[in-house]
Amino acid sequence: MTSIKEALEQIGELPAHMWIAGQRISGGLRDGIECRDPGSGELLSKLPAGTKEDIAEAVATAKAALKGPWADMLPKERGRLIWKIGEALHAEVDRFALVETLDSGKPLKDAKVSVQRAADYFIYYAGMVDKLEGTSIPLGINKVAYTEKVPVGVTGHIVPWNVPLSMVTRGIAPALTCGNTAVVKPAEDTPLAAVMLAELIEKVGLPVGVVNIVTGFGVEAGQALAEHPDVRHITFTGSVATGKKIMHAAAEHLASVTLELGGKSPHLILGDADLDRATPDIMAAVYKNAGQICSSGTRLIVAKEIHNELVDRLAEKSEAMKVGHGLDNPDMGPLISNKQLQTVVGFADRAKDRGIDFSCGGSLADVESNQGGYFFEPTIANNVDPDDELAQKEVFGPVLSVIPVASVDEAIDVANNTQYGLAAGIHTQDISAAMRFAKSVEAGQVYINGYHGSGDTVPFGGFRDSGIGREKGLAGLDAYSATRAVTITL
Ligand code: NAD
Repeated sequence: MTSIKEALEQIGELPAHMWIAGQRISGGLRDGIECRDPGSGELLSKLPAGTKEDIAEAVATAKAALKGPWADMLPKERGRLIWKIGEALHAEVDRFALVETLDSGKPLKDAKVSVQRAADYFIYYAGMVDKLEGTSIPLGINKVAYTEKVPVGVTGHIVPWNVPLSMVTRGIAPALTCGNTAVVKPAEDTPLAAVMLAELIEKVGLPVGVVNIVTGFGVEAGQALAEHPDVRHITFTGSVATGKKIMHAAAEHLASVTLELGGKSPHLILGDADLDRATPDIMAAVYKNAGQICSSGTRLIVAKEIHNELVDRLAEKSEAMKVGHGLDNPDMGPLISNKQLQTVVGFADRAKDRGIDFSCGGSLADVESNQGGYFFEPTIANNVDPDDELAQKEVFGPVLSVIPVASVDEAIDVANNTQYGLAAGIHTQDISAAMRFAKSVEAGQVYINGYHGSGDTVPFGGFRDSGIGREKGLAGLDAYSATRAVTITL
């Protein structure tokens, strides 16, 4: 068990600046962002709240960096540099993981996996730099036509707080691979690792200005980035409401967008499921990162014949979970902020007022050693109506809504009965039922007999209100290149 003081000693200096054109820019007169440890409420650092002018400077820097050494570099050299970023980050997993735990609250073991994933995006995409091939198109004997992939230009990355570093790298790794430059606006709750990453990137040898980090609030820095006419693509992960604002802003200058928004993902457990295998999977699907994952499996759609047995098992195991500070490596850490905690409390209290039965949890979790932290109990709301708020709205907390159903058809109907379409899971031993579900559920990713776990190489994104475009895997490169077609008349 590492104390906060020991963790801070191991980390060394925490950023108190942003990073533009290879320079540390400190707050000066700008109001600071207060960066707090969600496990204790302690103030970790103050960072500048970037302004419209800071965004303008960062975008101008990134635009200038599109020319010069970055553009002149041979593809294999660019690939080698991107690979080196991944290696450098892998070498610093322990330090970055401590920062992620203090900044976002996640258990240290999960933070390590998350930083490794962040590094792996660079490793995965690095080898693609010299394989971004075009095509040639037959136009007869007197013409030659070919296409080539060219960078889109300056890319803007607006990042949420739930998986801070890996959300940055899953956008910038493919963006750099395709030869673009980047301006990143991390979440105001969790800016630390992104600033540290930018310094590491320049140490590795990327030209100055290729990656810039503007810390700041969404309404000012985020909005200014989305509105900036020189930003040609915006990658955003966060809420549906903000995603719509960003798409409106991008429309004004016809920039493209990748939007990875929320979810209310169904997890079906059919009557023939292996409950020993399904139970830990259901728990991980909803409680990982304290339920603050867009693709969390938050609606448990259960066959009536196993409903009571499964809920009893889940409640018993949920009550036994250790909730605590991320540095103590608990089963579940705190929520990101008091604001998010109050949102979750609001959902639970309203559900209680509507008479919904909680099989476990439903209240603030008392963590004796960390009274200042933002802890909520692992919670199961039972017999939730498929149209209830708890089955429709994204809580973004450790709250599972259980919906019993009488048939596979009803399960699929209930699964598709929300505004979202991000992820979906099923446990069954009936391959036909599993495949029928996979083909009928409106979701960007489907997990059969094991929720999550597809890593950095499988495309990820949503249908409907869950977003537009795909990240991860080779599909994650699509947004970052434009096709230029050249026709030569002989
Ligand atoms: P948000 O969507 O408001 O913030 C996400 C990012 O967008 C942050 O960097 C923020 O500064 C920025 N932003 C906010 N307003 C902006 C604007 N007008 N223009 C440009 N950028 C802007 O999310 P939040 O307030 O931090 O969380 C609210 C809810 O969003 C959560 O309860 C959850 O439902 C959802 N959320 C989803 C994800 C996800 O992974 N899909 C992640 C975080 C939050």
